[in-house]
Amino acid sequence: MRYSALALVRGALAAHRNWTPAWRSPEPKRAYDIVIVGAGGHGLAAAYYLARNHGIRNVAVLERGWLGGGNTGRNTTVVRSNYLYPESARLYDFALKLYEGLSRELNFNIMLSQRGHIMLAHSRHDLESIARWANAMHMNGIQAELLNREQVGELIPALDMSPQARYPVLGGFMQRRGGTARHDAVAWGYARAADALGVDIIQNCEVTGFAKAASGAVTGIETSLGRIQATRVGIAVAGHSSVLARLAGFQLPVTSYALQAMVTEPVKPALDKVVISPGTGAYVSQSDKGEMVIGGGLDLFPSYAQRGSFAVLQSVVAATLAIFPSFSRLRLMRQWAGIVDVVHDSSPILGPTPVPGLYINCGWGTGGFKAIPAGGWLLAHVLATGRNHELAEPFQLERFVSGRLIDEAAASGIAH
Ligand SMILES: Cc1cc2nc3c(=O)[nH]c(=O)nc-3n(C[C@H](O)[C@H](O)[C@H](O)COP(=O)(O)OP(=O)(O)OC[C@H]3O[C@@H](n4cnc5c(N)ncnc54)[C@H](O)[C@@H]3O)c2cc1C
Repeated sequence: MRYSALALVRGALAAHRNWTPAWRSPEPKRAYDIVIVGAGGHGLAAAYYLARNHGIRNVAVLERGWLGGGNTGRNTTVVRSNYLYPESARLYDFALKLYEGLSRELNFNIMLSQRGHIMLAHSRHDLESIARWANAMHMNGIQAELLNREQVGELIPALDMSPQARYPVLGGFMQRRGGTARHDAVAWGYARAADALGVDIIQNCEVTGFAKAASGAVTGIETSLGRIQATRVGIAVAGHSSVLARLAGFQLPVTSYALQAMVTEPVKPALDKVVISPGTGAYVSQSDKGEMVIGGGLDLFPSYAQRGSFAVLQSVVAATLAIFPSFSRLRLMRQWAGIVDVVHDSSPILGPTPVPGLYINCGWGTGGFKAIPAGGWLLAHVLATGRNHELAEPFQLERFVSGRLIDEAAASGIAH
C-alpha cells in the first residue's frame, strides 16, 4: 500500500479500516540465503539494501524483542556529518545524503529536519579546536560555518549570553545540514520497505548460538525459535555485539556502557537548532511535540543495565540549566538509557569477522543513528558480494592489529 495524501483521504472515507499492517509477522523458515541478527536501524537497513541493491530477498532479520526497541528507538535523533578524518567524513556524509532522500525512497516520512547543528565554544581553547574542526570539514568537502558570539546569540535566543553566565559562550560552529530525524520512523520505514521486498522480519526471536562447519565457517543460527540455516550472517546488535561475538567464538574490542537521554514536558517552540555544549556536558534539541530532548555523556562503567545512574542524570540536567537557565521551570517527564558499543577509537567496525561467513556492523557507540543508511548499505554490500565497499575498507577489525586507528573521540561530541 502506497502512503500518500490520497491514501489518507481514502482512509478517512473508510473510517480508517482499510489500512494494511506495515509489515508481516511471518514464522521463520528453516533456511535463508542471508540472516541478519538485530532489527535496529542498521539491521533493517541492511536487509532493505540487500533486496533493493543486490536483489537478494530470501533474507530474515531476527530480533529478540520488538523492532526498533534497541538504541534506534532510544536515541536523541541527531543527524550530522561533522567528523574530523576523511574516512569518517565520507562515511557519515554518505549517510546524511541517503537520509536526505529517504522519506521519498521508503515512502515513509522520517521527519528529517535539517535545522542546523551548533557546537558551542566556551573558552579560547574551544575556539581554536572548532576552527580546526571546521577547516577539516571544508577540506573534506563538507560545509561548516564558524560563528561569533553575536551570531550564536541570534541563532539560539534561549541561551544564557549574559555577562554572569557560568559558562560564557564565545562562539560556535554550525553544520546547517545537521539536525534531527524521527528515530522510530527510520526503523519503521526500513522495516516496511524491506518487508514489501520479501524480507522476513521475525520479532521475539533471540539468537542464542551459531552452528559451524568443520572448517569453522558459519552454517546456521541457534534461536529461541529453533535452528535456522544460513551460510551468510550479519550481526548488527549495537551494545550486545560482544555477547554475540562470544557466542560465535571471537572477541571484539568493544566496551558496553549505558547512555542516557531524557525529555521535558512539551512547550511551544523555543529552540529551532540542535545545540551541543561539550564544555558543560549536555546537548539539547526540541522535538516536534515540543519536548526538550536532552542528552549527555556515558555512564562511565561497563554495564548491560538499560537504566543509567542518577549521578549522570543529575550532571546532565545541571549542565543543561547552566546554558539554558530558563528551562529550570520545565518538568522532566521521562528518562531512559540504551546500551552502546564503544570502540576505543570511537569509529565503527564494518566487515568480516574471524568466522568465515559471519560479518559485523558495530562500534557506533553513541553516534550510530546518523549512520544508519550507510551502515545498512555497507553491511548489505559485504554480505552480498563478500567484499568490502570502499567506504567500509578503513573500518575493519584488522585496524586493531595494524594500529591504523581513526580516532574520532573529539567528533563524537561529549559522549566519549
Ligand atoms: C540515549 C542515546 C542517545 C543517542 N543519541 C544519538 C544521536 O542523537 N545521534 C546518533 O547518531 N546516535 C545516537 N545514539 C546511538 C544510536 O542510537 C545507535 O548507535 C544506533 O541506534 C545503533 O543502531 P543499531 O541498529 O546498531 O542497534 P539497535 O537499534 O540497538 O538494534 C540492535 C537490536 O539487536 C537486538 N538484539 C540484541 N541481541 C540480540 C540477540 N541475541 N538476538 C536477536 N536480537 C538481538 C536488540 O534487541 C536490538 O533491537 C544514541 C544512543 C543512546 C542510547
